Amino acid sequence: MGLLTFKKGVHPPDMKFLSKDKEIKRLEAPKNVYIPMSQHIGAPAKCVVKKGDMVKVGTKLGEMGGFVSANIFSSVSGTVKDIVMYPNVFGAKSQTVVIENDERQIKENFNPLKEEESKLIIEKIKEGGIVGMGGATFPTHVKLSPPPEKPIDTIIINGAECEPYLTSDYRLMLEMPEKVIGGLELLLKALNAKFGYIGVESNKIDIYQKIAKLLEGKSNMKAVLLKTKYPQGAEKQLIYAITKRKVPTGGLPMDVGVVVQNSGTAAAIYELIKEGKPLYERIVTVTGNGIKEPGNFLIPIGTPISYVIEKCGGLTDDAGKIILGGPMMGISVDNLDIPVTKGTSGILVMTENEIFKEDYDRCIRCGKCVTTCPMNLSPFKYIDLGEQKKYLEAAEWNVLDCIECGSCVYACPSKRPIIQFVKMEKAKIIEERKKGSKK
Ligand code: SF4
Ligand code: SF4
Repeated sequence: MGLLTFKKGVHPPDMKFLSKDKEIKRLEAPKNVYIPMSQHIGAPAKCVVKKGDMVKVGTKLGEMGGFVSANIFSSVSGTVKDIVMYPNVFGAKSQTVVIENDERQIKENFNPLKEEESKLIIEKIKEGGIVGMGGATFPTHVKLSPPPEKPIDTIIINGAECEPYLTSDYRLMLEMPEKVIGGLELLLKALNAKFGYIGVESNKIDIYQKIAKLLEGKSNMKAVLLKTKYPQGAEKQLIYAITKRKVPTGGLPMDVGVVVQNSGTAAAIYELIKEGKPLYERIVTVTGNGIKEPGNFLIPIGTPISYVIEKCGGLTDDAGKIILGGPMMGISVDNLDIPVTKGTSGILVMTENEIFKEDYDRCIRCGKCVTTCPMNLSPFKYIDLGEQKKYLEAAEWNVLDCIECGSCVYACPSKRPIIQFVKMEKAKIIEERKKGSKK
């Protein structure tokens, strides 16, 4: 069978050997957890507890602050110690509930969904605070609410895990494949979709074989083997690889009748619907040559990164950089008080030798950024325009289509900081469009 894929992309070393054979272990919660009201794309949740309140595992701490928002739940039982402005992954501060853990892990009564009707499934997903767990953190109920003129016929579970180093999805699919498959079945019901795929990269062929076997005899679901290439797990690239449908410029997967969900999200949906468990913990890969004992852990949301690192034996002497997520799209952090949130797929520690230099050279017009860009853009142009402060002109070069995958930066011999300029240009264009002066 030929491997399915998309055009262009890059082949960074996958580095998954550091943690792929480490079974998922539950990490005990620390004495205090720090649970932010904003862990998703959209409006922050509104805090619904106050200092001194007693909470259980699964108590709602934050109520959705709008349609594009998500409920937030406690990951421990104990007492609300404080509500503070606390550092987040973006280097700012956001409202955070601090809970003193009583170490009893008393749970709320979780109610599974009795009748799995499409509307009820989506309503329950909204109530349970599910967001995209591959790192995007887009509220899942919003993705599952396309307008009537855009019916969905296909659901794709993204099991590509194309970011180097990360193995949390791999371990999930290896150890709990029934949850991922069950999540896909629920998604098919929720959207009345005809067919579901679980896409797995060829560097995880054991998973592909396992899932394909479990799906034998099912007429509406199939495992598909994808070429190991970055960014194979990006939505548009994954949709093209599997269905050959092309999401139009500026469009969304629903424009071609598809919804994509990460395998971690599918498992979270399964746990919520079948067991009643809201989203208050997640699997995180802790890895890199800068951490002493890499592994995959089920971590209560709100656990500070410093605590996780300590439980993994600490940093090596030559640890140089900590990234939340993978090396291609992750965010570098220097404050280890930051907690694990719904979007933390990995904690990657690179050594000083492995860090990519901050200095960059001139563009040598080699064209490598163009030949690797999976969105067929001209990435060098974004720096040219940015350096000339012609930010708005980047719209003419389709900068809004950039998925910030980092393939161009990886391929660039001069290590030009293309994404930095892309982000700036996108922000300026969106701001300008909001003001109504379209360029
Ligand atoms: S321009 Fe954007 S989409 Fe293209 S390779 Fe660079 S980061 Fe990826
Ligand atoms: S890869 Fe780098 S050096 Fe080559 S054209 Fe693109 S920006 Fe310039």
